[in-house]
Amino acid sequence: MKVLVTEFDPIDEEARKILSEVAEVTSTLHCSEEELISQVGDVNGILVCFAPITRKVIEAAGKLKVIARFGVGYDNVDVKAATERGVVVANYPAIYTEEVAELTLLLMVALARHLPYVDSMVRSGRWFWKMDMATRRRYTNACRTLQGKTLGIIGLGSIGREVARKAQCALDMNVLAYDPWADVKDMQKLGIGSADLATLLRNSDIISIHVPLTDSTRGMIGREELRAMKPSAYIINTSRGAIVDELALIEALRNGWIAGAGLEVFTKEPPEPDNPLFKMENVVLSPHIGAQTVEASGKIWIACANTIADVLKGRIPKPPANIVNKDVLKRIRLE
Ligand code: NAD
Repeated sequence: MKVLVTEFDPIDEEARKILSEVAEVTSTLHCSEEELISQVGDVNGILVCFAPITRKVIEAAGKLKVIARFGVGYDNVDVKAATERGVVVANYPAIYTEEVAELTLLLMVALARHLPYVDSMVRSGRWFWKMDMATRRRYTNACRTLQGKTLGIIGLGSIGREVARKAQCALDMNVLAYDPWADVKDMQKLGIGSADLATLLRNSDIISIHVPLTDSTRGMIGREELRAMKPSAYIINTSRGAIVDELALIEALRNGWIAGAGLEVFTKEPPEPDNPLFKMENVVLSPHIGAQTVEASGKIWIACANTIADVLKGRIPKPPANIVNKDVLKRIRLE
């Protein structure tokens, strides 16, 4: 058996041990579709983060049995193609809930207090209280107190709920959410108001996106939606870049349709060096590191390795693996 680990160097030692018991483990850092096609011919399992596991890659991997997605979102894996070929696709919902929720709050607070600006000010020897009155006033007028403000959450799943809870408990914010699949009674119990998208856009002081990237959420926040927001509002995206139309967002920030953005994800990752967002003071950026903590990285490695090892041994993987295409499990039992 062979397992290909993409995009990581080195592989976590504990995960390597688990995988090595069932397979020969190789890794690759070069992960374009073409490069993967040339490497997957004899591979039985793939551990993938963001690399494109397209139909062509899956078809080139004639011996493939399992794909473990190192995280929650699996928009880079062609699940339909995998299902047709009986390949198990697993992701790990909720494994990063805490970390992404914490990062979301960080972006909210950093934006509300223009943290990157004041941080660079102190580092470069400029002291707020020594600056002229106009500069000080400009800074203070750009900052906001979050207590009592309304947070609008788009997508009230695992991360959305935890962001809501933390914003209520830690920041004393009111929370509205738009999620057609969320249970309204449950939301009432949690003190979260239910709203349609238009109402949420109109009434929120901060909007935070927590939907997966799908055909229906791609570009769901565009020009029209940004124009509907309050001019004092911020938007936070820790989910997937393509959910927000980035060009429309740049236009909205330039024209003052909204006050700022906290972005952890981008349409193209990494963004081009001349991306206009880099020059804007009213944005706070992070490089898709929502899950990058000591606590989170250990648990996901072990979870992915166990899933791959289980499938290669002909067993049904245990939670926290979530089998995205459950019908293929029947094939494991048959083999
Ligand atoms: P989840 O599946 O628990 O929740 C997603 C929620 O979105 C669900 O409640 C669903 O009903 C709702 N939803 C789906 N389509 C919708 C639509 N069109 N309109 C409104 N609501 C809709 O997922 P989660 O664990 O909360 O994660 C959310 C997303 O966060 C993931 O899909 C992933 O893209 C992203 N994520 C990012 C990082 C990071 O490192 N930045 C880490 C983990 C997850």
